[in-house]
Amino acid sequence: MKAMVLHETGGTLTMEETPMHQPRPGEALVRVKACGLGLTLVWNRNDRVGGINGMLPRIVGHEIAGEVVELGEGTSAFQPGDRVNVYFYLTCGDCRWCNVGREDLCDNYAGVVGSQINGGLAEYVSLPVRNLSHIPPNLDYVAAAVAADAVATPLHVLRERAKVQPPETVLVVGAGGGVGIHMVQMAKVMGTRVIAVDISEEKLALAKEMGADEIINSLDAPFEKEARRLTGGRGVDAIVELVGRPETIESSILSLDKGGRIVYVGFYDDKIEVPFRPNYLMTREITFTGSRYCSRQELAEATEMVARGQIKPVVTQTCELEESEEVLQSIQRMEMPGRACVVFK
Ligand SMILES: [Zn+2]
Repeated sequence: MKAMVLHETGGTLTMEETPMHQPRPGEALVRVKACGLGLTLVWNRNDRVGGINGMLPRIVGHEIAGEVVELGEGTSAFQPGDRVNVYFYLTCGDCRWCNVGREDLCDNYAGVVGSQINGGLAEYVSLPVRNLSHIPPNLDYVAAAVAADAVATPLHVLRERAKVQPPETVLVVGAGGGVGIHMVQMAKVMGTRVIAVDISEEKLALAKEMGADEIINSLDAPFEKEARRLTGGRGVDAIVELVGRPETIESSILSLDKGGRIVYVGFYDDKIEVPFRPNYLMTREITFTGSRYCSRQELAEATEMVARGQIKPVVTQTCELEESEEVLQSIQRMEMPGRACVVFK
């Protein structure tokens, strides 16, 4: 089969003919129909997340939708022909967290699809059936792939971590990227007013088109002043930090109303100095928290929301498998608004 293979950390993906991995007991062989390309993949190959170092060579790609073609011996949970998308954390299914539907915190977390096991930038992929989720019949594969991360992640962030509700105001930092653009939509579905922050006019225009009530270009000035102006001086109720650099975190803290929540979803490796005293959290009852991916239940819910048309997958570029390296480089340069997706014929 054809596959895009990563041979060294930080290297480029190369198109190769590789042997198909036969499904073992508990696994299914999936014919990949669509695989999303996003920043997580860039971080993944640079080993900033996912721990791919030591796993090479590896077929990357985690945002997958496809069709089951074969099952491992004794495996009956799915049938050939089933249309599925993929939960990309490798979890045990039996620990205290998995048992309560918080698989993202699994005690026996074993990494991610496309890092610890081969991923979806290939014609076929073998995956544990625990990671598969049926998709509605009317849903196309590109939408189903994007639902599995770029839509499911916002559902977890906003409902479980930020706990937003109407008529709150939510500010999204990094609103024009693959996850951000769906965060904007999800926040609107949840009945909130949305302020989108980004640094590109093109990304901000897209955020506006997808429902943002207000937009701020943070290249013009630190965004806290504008966030305060747009809320009559009060500040916003919740902030989703998809950039998470020291300067945006500082601006976020200064943009927040009393009782506000900041949810950190970005990736910043270095230590940062948080520019407030602990008393600031107490006197203003501010919550500073993190969020990682979602539960399997949330993946299924997010997929259903896409199928119902409540969330529109924003796929600004589709490409063929062999073009995925080029597209990934454009994502790394932060040029691309929305999501990109490899489509298999
Ligand atoms: Zn577990």
